[in-house]
Amino acid sequence: MQIKSARLKHIAMHCGSSNTNDSSNIHLQKRQRTDDKIRSAMLDFEVFDCPICFEPLIAPIFQCDNGHLACSLCCPKLRNKCPFCTLPIGNKRCRAMEKVLESIFIPCSMLGCTKNVCYGELSAHEKDCKFSLCACPVPGCKYIASYKDIYDHFTFGHRESYYRERPMLRDRDMFTSGNSFILELNINDKCFRELCGVYVSVCCIAPSSSEAKEFSYDLSYTIGGQTMIYKSLKVKRIRKVSLQIPHDNFMLIPQSLLHGEFLNIEASIKTINKVQ
Ligand SMILES: [Zn+2]
Ligand SMILES: [Zn+2]
Ligand SMILES: [Zn+2]
Ligand SMILES: [Zn+2]
Repeated sequence: MQIKSARLKHIAMHCGSSNTNDSSNIHLQKRQRTDDKIRSAMLDFEVFDCPICFEPLIAPIFQCDNGHLACSLCCPKLRNKCPFCTLPIGNKRCRAMEKVLESIFIPCSMLGCTKNVCYGELSAHEKDCKFSLCACPVPGCKYIASYKDIYDHFTFGHRESYYRERPMLRDRDMFTSGNSFILELNINDKCFRELCGVYVSVCCIAPSSSEAKEFSYDLSYTIGGQTMIYKSLKVKRIRKVSLQIPHDNFMLIPQSLLHGEFLNIEASIKTINKVQ
């Protein structure tokens, strides 16, 4: 992979060559030279990974007396003993490597994203990036795109047939904040049915990017005069619908309250006003 790493290299090349004694001037000249000329270099990214767990190094980075590196998560796991030379590791920071990492920015690989991110934060950014890929939730459809494109794809590709098959649903009601609508779920179809009952959860197809809207939801299920209510503070964001049992953020309707093939649930989704 090719990155713009020349800022560092360029400074090193000119360090001893200035003949002025004014240190702030030297600094300024160095800055100027680096800003003028950014060169590309080939770098092996492995040098920026922890040699023990192979994850990207993030400060604080530690070194033993022989200069072997380890990340802050590995040190306690190694009982602060360097695996390469057995000298203690975990007290001495490697500030030079921390500084190098601070200065390396890599473009996000998601199509459409123009952000440059610190090497250590790249994988976290790409997971949350608003351009990261999400999968269309309609069963059988293999379409994958950014969450905004998924919405358009659904609107133009599936909307008509989706609502034709679900006459009780009107998207006008579903997507108006706070409006209640009835979800008719075929229990034998895509619900999370288990021996103990049915798991019902509302998720939003989007990455956890701070730029995407946040929602809360309420569910209520009435049968034989009894009503179960579930209030969720936050709609969970997912990038792909999974058929696994949810670990959190769900309403469990016990087997004893299930009747027939369909489950009618009253739902309402609200936009959360973010407090800045
Ligand atoms: Zn590590
Ligand atoms: Zn060592
Ligand atoms: Zn990005
Ligand atoms: Zn689709």
